[in-house]
Amino acid sequence: MYWEQDVETMAREQLEALQLKRLKATLERAALSPFYGRLFAESAFNPSDVKSLEDLKALPTTTKDDLREGWPYGFLAVPREELVRMHSSSGTTGRATVIFHTRHDIEAWTNLMARCMYMTGMRRSDVFQNMMTYGLFTGGLGFHYGAERIGALVIPAGAGNSKRQIQLMRDFETTVIHIIPSYALHLSTVFGELNLDPRDTKVRMAYLGAEPHSENMRRKIEEIYGFKGYNSYGLSEMNGPGVAFECPHQSGLHIWEDSFFVEILDPVTLNPVPEGAEGELVMTTLNREGMPIIRYRTKDLTRIVPGQCPCGRTHRRIERIKGRTDDMLIIKGVNIFPIQIEKRLMGIPGVGKNFLIVLEREGYNDTMTVKVEVEKEFFDGDLKNLERLRRHIVEELKSDILITPRVDLVGPGTLPQTEGKARRVMDNRKE
Ligand code: ADP
Ligand code: ZN
Repeated sequence: MYWEQDVETMAREQLEALQLKRLKATLERAALSPFYGRLFAESAFNPSDVKSLEDLKALPTTTKDDLREGWPYGFLAVPREELVRMHSSSGTTGRATVIFHTRHDIEAWTNLMARCMYMTGMRRSDVFQNMMTYGLFTGGLGFHYGAERIGALVIPAGAGNSKRQIQLMRDFETTVIHIIPSYALHLSTVFGELNLDPRDTKVRMAYLGAEPHSENMRRKIEEIYGFKGYNSYGLSEMNGPGVAFECPHQSGLHIWEDSFFVEILDPVTLNPVPEGAEGELVMTTLNREGMPIIRYRTKDLTRIVPGQCPCGRTHRRIERIKGRTDDMLIIKGVNIFPIQIEKRLMGIPGVGKNFLIVLEREGYNDTMTVKVEVEKEFFDGDLKNLERLRRHIVEELKSDILITPRVDLVGPGTLPQTEGKARRVMDNRKE
């Protein structure tokens, strides 16, 4: 059940010794890059002085803006000839960042991906349909290489084209898929349009990643398709997918600490939070040659899950990501994350597969309207039912976010749907 038992179940002490060894090598290498070379010189930091993992905290964090300023080659620690691959982020929050890999880096990433998928039970006999964008986005090639490494048959389907996806799934008896959660719900509607049952396929598990989603959303997807869904987390700056992944226990995501040094910091003070408290995930690459990144601020909020996982892996688990620090909405002085709304909605029977949060300014007040797709039975002419559901949704949301949102119910498939990461918020407030 382990891809690399020795690494996955390594005793903490040994794992930390490995981290320290790799950290030192990473810092030595990073010193060769223009960005870190300058940073180390400015802060009189000498990589050879590092004696413990704690010593890393003497260095400042690296941000997405640093990466943008270092565009395109400012973080390279090797000559250009040693690079074999480039990827970029999706550009969800501004200009995309680019990441470069040597042959070693691609090899190490592929191995991590194989480790993740093997952990959930993927084997040579599986047929794996990768419904992610290929190209610069990391979710395509990252998973592709990992599944090939295991020896599964890979269908590089790419994103979108729902009817063809369904056809491929049926014709080639796909057993495992990789899909964006919001798209998984959309795809199930297309099954319906074709008069097909999403449960009537050979797919037994799905890797759900690339965007925040709640436990309720996962359960809903699992229920609709009758498969097991595993949360997959990563970001291009740390290769892409393969950073943290759920094991069969589905109770937090094992974060691969042989490859990433993990810190959870208070996003305001940048001090470490107490073990188990929520904060921003900050990571340092420990096994990357081409473009080492030190103390990278992911902006993703999570916490360390306390205790040991029954699966025997010693790499710590993070809780599913709550969202990015930038995702936080402040409405009437209350802080709200879109995932809180998603979680409530996905737990309410009758609610459909999509929603949108619309923010507007009226005078000096900000207002929030939640547009919610509901199942078509509710549009059978009995307005009382619809109104009852609407009130119920308002109450549910209010109990979580503490303000009373406007709720508009709309028909299935009427809200904008992307093939990539869902856009949950439409902000119409003027600056
Ligand atoms: P961008 O940062 O431009 O979206 P990436 O494609 O590298 O570019 O996306 C990485 C980001 O996607 C992560 O930092 C995180 O915010 C989000 N993400 C990826 N996987 C998950 C997941 N399983 N749960 C929540 N958020 C995720
Ligand atoms: Zn586990």
